[in-house]
Amino acid sequence: MSCKVSRVNNDKQVKNVCAADDSARLEALRRYNILDTDYDPRFDDLAELGAFICNTPIAVINFVDKDRQWFKSEIGLGIRETELDISVCAHAILQPGLFVVPDMTKDPRFANNPLVTGEPHLRFYAGALLETDDGFPLGTFCVLDYQPRELSTEQEKAITTLARQVMTQLELIRTNEQQRETLKSLQRSNKLLEIEASTDELTKLANRRAITHALQYELALMQELGRKSAALLLDLDFFKQVNDAHGHLVGDEVLKEFAEFCNHEFRSSDMIGRWGGEEFIIILPGSNLVTAEKIAARFQRKLNEHTFAKHHQVKLTFSGSLIELSPLLSARATFKRLDDNLYRAKQQGRNQIILVKD
Ligand code: GH3
Ligand code: MG
Ligand code: MG
Repeated sequence: MSCKVSRVNNDKQVKNVCAADDSARLEALRRYNILDTDYDPRFDDLAELGAFICNTPIAVINFVDKDRQWFKSEIGLGIRETELDISVCAHAILQPGLFVVPDMTKDPRFANNPLVTGEPHLRFYAGALLETDDGFPLGTFCVLDYQPRELSTEQEKAITTLARQVMTQLELIRTNEQQRETLKSLQRSNKLLEIEASTDELTKLANRRAITHALQYELALMQELGRKSAALLLDLDFFKQVNDAHGHLVGDEVLKEFAEFCNHEFRSSDMIGRWGGEEFIIILPGSNLVTAEKIAARFQRKLNEHTFAKHHQVKLTFSGSLIELSPLLSARATFKRLDDNLYRAKQQGRNQIILVKD
């Protein structure tokens, strides 16, 4: 591509497109993500209108890429790209305003062009610049004919207007894409915020708010599905002593390990939450009181066999209360009953589970 110095077009400064500067122009072209996209009626309609108004067999919306010219839309050509060295548009984007070649056989720049000397024997070319707001020529809106000819002033005006319409479409598509990206990233951060708002920071279990929602949801679902479900409230025994003996950080570590232990021991369909401090709630969907009791007893046995914070050999027991959920009892009333009975388990000597019955 030969070098063209800065020029003024329609009172607007147009960027220099000499070879050294072409990278900035190509970068401007890349901004639109238009190359190698499908045919699109929004552009095909404009090309068709161009051919119709100028009464030419060929109209093309053409972008000049690094080593090729690529056609977003073409009427009457049947191909979507050619190499750049036979491109007339590559010349057109170096010219201000409209680039018209009434008879290419008579223009030394194009007389030997294979598109002129051979198939499809092009003779006439008129191209209006596709130019960005910041002055980069991306390609042309052009009409071509097999006969030498000229355009009327109105036709020249029309293809210049159509070229501007192409740029408006490109900008619209780009803005839509940007908005879609913004929306996606907003949705991603909303999701993260949602997770954060429902997760306990230390143990990564559901927090009090989330497990309350889970219980409310389960109560509604039980009614709908007619299934039995249960909930276990547990409080680690003498946990203050763990902190006192090993320090608060080890206490934190033990709580984290206990959460992992729960995740491992309960079924994946069970919902585990940190109710607060060293208290946890496990919702057991689909389990009646008899099944839930077996599950809780098994958990208790496994806990007895387990040691936490390896270097400190911490052993844990818990006191708990277990209830079969009833849609007739609100989440709040359910928690109250569980809490009252947990207190009884503590009173009766800890390391035991109280079954809450009506
Ligand atoms: P009890 O058998 O009556 O439940 O005795 P306990 O020591 O477990 O209960 P208490 O209510 O007297 O003390 C609760 C302890 O749990 C004290 C508190 O510092 C500790 N704890 C609560 N939350 C955390 C935490 O996030 N990290 C650590 N390291 N300790 C915690
Ligand atoms: Mg405790
Ligand atoms: Mg407690």
